Amino acid sequence: MISAKSGDPSESGKSDVEPPLGLLAELTHRCPLRCPYCSNPLELEKRDTELSTDEWRRVLSEAAGLGVLQVHLSGGEPTRRPDLANLVEHCRGVGLYSNLITAGVAFAAGLLERLAEAGLDHVQLSVQAPEPALNDLVTGRPGSLGEKLSTAQAVRDLDLPLTINFVVHRLTIERLPRMIELAVDLGARRLEVAHAQYHGWALENRQALIPTRDQVMAAVDIVDRARESYRGRLVIDSVVPDYYARYPKPCMGGWARNSLNITPSGRALPCHAAETIPGVEFPSVRSEDLKSIWYGSPLFQMYRGVDWLPDRCRGCDRREIDWGGCRCQALAITGNAGETDPACEKSPWHDELLSIAQRESTASTEFLYRSFSR
Ligand code: SF4
Ligand code: SF4
Repeated sequence: MISAKSGDPSESGKSDVEPPLGLLAELTHRCPLRCPYCSNPLELEKRDTELSTDEWRRVLSEAAGLGVLQVHLSGGEPTRRPDLANLVEHCRGVGLYSNLITAGVAFAAGLLERLAEAGLDHVQLSVQAPEPALNDLVTGRPGSLGEKLSTAQAVRDLDLPLTINFVVHRLTIERLPRMIELAVDLGARRLEVAHAQYHGWALENRQALIPTRDQVMAAVDIVDRARESYRGRLVIDSVVPDYYARYPKPCMGGWARNSLNITPSGRALPCHAAETIPGVEFPSVRSEDLKSIWYGSPLFQMYRGVDWLPDRCRGCDRREIDWGGCRCQALAITGNAGETDPACEKSPWHDELLSIAQRESTASTEFLYRSFSR
């Protein structure tokens, strides 16, 4: 059960909901890279629909008032926003820990220094492959690995904590040992081995991205050994990708349980892929404040807690561990967002998920690159 010890019942009448701890602020969908594994939606939000600086500052203040502790400044590529330092400064002013999630390319001169002066707390830098040719192939941008390595060095020179995010798929998973060495060489404190999540553009490219089971098992072994070798120097986060797992992950820690997303145009979502769910109204921070969205919006209540769970989950002792898994994956595979996540071995669609993985992991490797005009 969600605890009843806090929450804001004053307007919604609910008393069993905790305030969120994290907010993913998707400042823009613009990005100089074109990664086929990108989980942004196929219809990217255009620049002229983005929230203004003042709107974002208001949202950040509301987030702090609601109880949010950490803001992840993301996108697209958040450094495309010329007001980024202003927003970082505002985070610091209202007591929010700010984490910049960046691809680390095409930075304006002096940008990182300005962000550090504004109070940026942490940088999470994506690297697609440890070799230039493969990195370029995945990002669709020549020379991008060199730019990323320069950004990593600048982050370390500014004494900011650095996490490297290595997105793993069929073409890059075998580069994991070299990627771990690179993360250590770059002075990262943390490495996220992030298996591609099949939403948005990644779902379109699933045939080209999904690894084989043997590749996944070898990667699990490599991570286990590296955790031992680099204990005390590098923390490695990694989980088995859904298509080969026995149980689902607690997507976003549970629907509307401890974090939320705001899209570039201000739609508030319990997870970044929730816009795929049909027939629901998406609240906007342009017309509602975050508190009323978090506690009162029908979308946020739809799959919150355990009361909505299908019978097989409601009677399961993992129901408050994974909360029935990912709603968007359930929708993508079963056609019903209210079903058990097929990553669960108890789901009648579990074998279908595995057979998709087995079939597609030997299919084409031709990418459909992320683009504003598909
Ligand atoms: S995954 Fe790639 S294309 Fe998508 S936002 Fe990140 S860097 Fe840009
Ligand atoms: S049946 Fe539902 S609650 Fe139980 S492990 Fe599977 S997804 Fe989780």
